[in-house]
Amino acid sequence: MSGCVKGLSLLSGGLDSQLAVRVLEQAGASVEGVCFSTPFFDCTAAKRAAGALGITLHIIDFTDDEIKLIENPPHGFGGAMNPCIDCHAMMIRRAGELMVAKGFDFVATGEVMGQRPMSQNKQSMGIVEKSSGLKGRLVRPLSAKLLEPTIPELEGKLDREKLLDISGRKRDRQIALAAEFGIVDYPSPAGGCKLTEDGFGRKLKDLLEHEGLGNRELVELLAVARRFRLPGGSGVILGRDQNENAILKGKAHLGVLLAPVNCPGPTAIVTGRDVPPEDLRLAAALVAAYSRSDRLEEDVLLTGGISVPRPYSRDPFKEFQIC
Ligand code: SF4
Repeated sequence: MSGCVKGLSLLSGGLDSQLAVRVLEQAGASVEGVCFSTPFFDCTAAKRAAGALGITLHIIDFTDDEIKLIENPPHGFGGAMNPCIDCHAMMIRRAGELMVAKGFDFVATGEVMGQRPMSQNKQSMGIVEKSSGLKGRLVRPLSAKLLEPTIPELEGKLDREKLLDISGRKRDRQIALAAEFGIVDYPSPAGGCKLTEDGFGRKLKDLLEHEGLGNRELVELLAVARRFRLPGGSGVILGRDQNENAILKGKAHLGVLLAPVNCPGPTAIVTGRDVPPEDLRLAAALVAAYSRSDRLEEDVLLTGGISVPRPYSRDPFKEFQIC
């Protein structure tokens, strides 16, 4: 049976996604992987896993899809700004398009029934299958025996007997299978997606509400720097170290760049359509407050000829800090 049926398996690099590949191979499929890349999660772990599994990996830029789902998630968010049900369904839809384009027979995932309360219960797995448009061609090899047989199983191309019946949140069967298959390198199940992090979610929500998510560079910058929202509506992106300051200097076109010139300190970008003068004054004071101005006898001087007089206190800015 080996090699007669071709599966395209979603590969995050996590243990379940790696196990899915090996279980499908045991059931007679030849398998390639697909992963999705956005500013919120990338394919680093998937690439490592594909290398260890010895399979081809397809990479799909998923940023535009993910942003549309964050702007309007039909099934809502999880605990943070993570539209997991819709995100997962859209990934499967995109994988389905690749399946058709490249001549695969089915799409597979490492989902386990009942493992995640929001996205991996029977109802949401059904929603995902329906809204992905892949009815009968979506195989979940780790829980397949608990689900209706799929077309490749019914056609006898995929050996249902070799597929599994794992359910629930316990991980013991997966750990035992990992040992059996010699899979040793996998990240923790929860890690990897910034959309599930509360702090990142607050920054994303603020950007969505004030400037929208249309500027991809601003979205990409969410992963770096401190954020403030000033009373006039302007945003401040403030570097936390030399690396972030250098990144922000390269993004000066996104707003008004501020940096101290007579003492060490952070680089900031003030964003917003028209930055009101009072916001610019506050942003300059913020840069001075975070600079190493303590031993300075004179005013802090910033790029653009802006001068900030003492005192240089961070306290007034706490209420403007997003996270
Ligand atoms: S954790 Fe992130 S990548 Fe995974 S389904 Fe949820 S939103 Fe999508």
